[in-house]
Amino acid sequence: MTARFAPDLVGDELVALTRRLGEPERDLVILAEGNTSELVADDTIVVKTSGASMRDATHDDFVAVEVSPLIALLRSADTTQEQVTAALDAGERGGVRVRASIETLIHVAVRAFDPARYVAHTHPTAVVSLLASVIAAESFAAPVYSDELMVLGRPLFVPYAQPGIDLGRAFLERLGAHVDAHGEVPSLILLGNHGIVATSHSASGAEAVSLMAVKSARVRLGALQAGGIAGLDEAATAHYFDRADFRERRQTLSGTGR
Ligand SMILES: [Zn+2]
Repeated sequence: MTARFAPDLVGDELVALTRRLGEPERDLVILAEGNTSELVADDTIVVKTSGASMRDATHDDFVAVEVSPLIALLRSADTTQEQVTAALDAGERGGVRVRASIETLIHVAVRAFDPARYVAHTHPTAVVSLLASVIAAESFAAPVYSDELMVLGRPLFVPYAQPGIDLGRAFLERLGAHVDAHGEVPSLILLGNHGIVATSHSASGAEAVSLMAVKSARVRLGALQAGGIAGLDEAATAHYFDRADFRERRQTLSGTGR
């Protein structure tokens, strides 16, 4: 067992971020969809439990898990879903079994490459509309306006895999390839037919990336209604982050860098 109940480790900022992302009018999640985590020590994250609502989250709706044993499970070809489920089990509390979200593997996979303080995973209707469409894989390939490039940077697309060990492995592999190619963990990861993952060193950055992803999806859906998406071409954006003022602004808004 690597998961444990540790409400003392759960920060107020994480709880507040989780509740804000769960506000119904934002349409990012309903019911018990979505989850958030915070890196609270070198190898420890606190992550939302399975079945808890983001909107009503409290300190008791998170458990602590160690990152490296779960990464080792993800990297082993022999790991079964049963082993993962057992590792996420934090035991019984008040007669109820408490388990870290099955999507905890996404949260630990990010920390295999970067000590991002906050990771927020949601299922925004506008973004999932695009990610469930025939243009899912390329829908965010090029930025379509400069403010989204500022906040989102260059997103990564991960094709659909069943939540659990399958998605964890696919996510770890695609993220590793992205880090090899671009030297950084992306601020936004798009999960085909599923949702989004925002990574940031600040709670406000994780929120900004999530909300900008929704706006960007709405812009694309609008452009499709108007005849098609016209992205900014490579030449227009190639040296965008060579500009120190743009880099600094991105760092402030999205919580990139440390
Ligand atoms: Zn999900």
